Amino acid sequence: MKKIKVIGGGLAGPEAALQAARFGCEVTLHEMRPNRSTEAHQTSDFAELVCSNSLKSESENTAPWLLKQEMRIAGSALLKEADACAVPAGHALAVDRVEFSRRVAERIAAEPRITVVREEVTSLDENSEDTLTILATGPLTSPALAAELQRLTGADQLAFYDSIAPVVDASTINMDRVYFKARWDKGSADYINCPFTKEEYDVFYDALVAAHEVEAKEWEKLDYFEGCLPIEEIARRGRDTLRFGCMKPVGLRYPGTEITPYAVVQLRQENLRADSYNLVGFQNHIKFGDQQRILRLIPGLENATFLRYGQIHRNTYINSPTLLNEQLQLRQHPNIFIAGQLSGVEGYTESIAGGMLAGRFAASVARGETPEPAPRLSAHGSLVHYITHAEAKRFQPANVTFDLLLPLEEELRKKIRDKKERHRLQCERGLNAWREWLDSSPLSA
Ligand code: FAD
Repeated sequence: MKKIKVIGGGLAGPEAALQAARFGCEVTLHEMRPNRSTEAHQTSDFAELVCSNSLKSESENTAPWLLKQEMRIAGSALLKEADACAVPAGHALAVDRVEFSRRVAERIAAEPRITVVREEVTSLDENSEDTLTILATGPLTSPALAAELQRLTGADQLAFYDSIAPVVDASTINMDRVYFKARWDKGSADYINCPFTKEEYDVFYDALVAAHEVEAKEWEKLDYFEGCLPIEEIARRGRDTLRFGCMKPVGLRYPGTEITPYAVVQLRQENLRADSYNLVGFQNHIKFGDQQRILRLIPGLENATFLRYGQIHRNTYINSPTLLNEQLQLRQHPNIFIAGQLSGVEGYTESIAGGMLAGRFAASVARGETPEPAPRLSAHGSLVHYITHAEAKRFQPANVTFDLLLPLEEELRKKIRDKKERHRLQCERGLNAWREWLDSSPLSA
């Protein structure tokens, strides 16, 4: 049987190692701390939660709950330890972070098939005959290993920043003030255009340049790529820079007239259901409260509800839609699996879930089996489907949400008006599909 080398002792790595060992594989778990740390970790512990101590909602029939239920059913080692050291947190699963790390370390120490190696890994052996690698080095992968990954995948396949544009709830857009149109009427009129007069633009501009930015931690000081500059940074370069950039109005005349607005914000459909739109080019680093106030100065968004605010932060992740298959292997180098935040999932729980899948898939391959992808109906399958099928050009990491799950069939949707009931049904069929998948796996034999 092939051996398994897991790189990264954060969340995804220990889960992957414990899964692979559980299914009979010899595992080495490589962690660079304490020899070398990241800018966010403060200890040399396994499974360190670098910021909040919450593993998100436990409310029944929410998407984070579904993901955790699936993990429990499949025997996630880290979730079991999280449950064992939960602290009161309303509807969320929050943990005592020190106790959580201690328990995970204890589990790893008690597993005779896992050998821990405290070293920074700087090279990857994609052609190894006897070892499979699970790469789980997270959003702060060390620079040497990131360079090695670029060697394997191509320099343009690794991102170092999340740059997220705000997303608005479509039902809260004032459609009387906006219009659908493609620039120069080329192609279908998919974009919603929010047109500005000069006066409206001036008010918006002044508010934008006066906005309060989120304070970047020292290590987070951003050396922005020109291609993903925050909107407020572009604005500071001159009163008209935005009008020649993402707010360019040319080719977007008011319908049925020859008049071109002074500036335009374009909204691009975010999902197939068209119930949310993102503000094109509006990635920013502004405090959420200020964002809400300023974005509502955009004509048509006066009373908008924002489902997500713009953000930019350090995050290393691969272009999974181009690189990964549904078994989390690099398509060009199937000896290498990618797990956790590096694969383009976002969040503690999602990272552990990715580690669990990668550990199972690698164990199957090591045993000479061909693993089946996680079912599309499940939360795990939906996350994997997202990272492997999202539009590659605009790929951004994602948390688990109902947006990623397969919607109910049209017929059912029409019949069931209550959103909660729809979600309940989605969770029920997700759990059924998940159980079937687990039962049919040779790992269950
Ligand atoms: P990590 O937990 O970061 O584990 C990766 C491990 O790999 C680290 O231990 C690192 O030391 C090690 N490593 C890196 N390079 C090498 C190498 N070359 N050789 C050997 N070891 C190496 N998510 C949330 O849900 N809630 C939050 O509050 C939250 N806050 C965050 C705050 C920050 C500052 C960051 C950066 C991320 C945050 N996240 C949060 C996102 C994400 O959930 C966490 O980063 C999560 O820890 C990711 O899990 P992981 O296993 O993929 O990576």
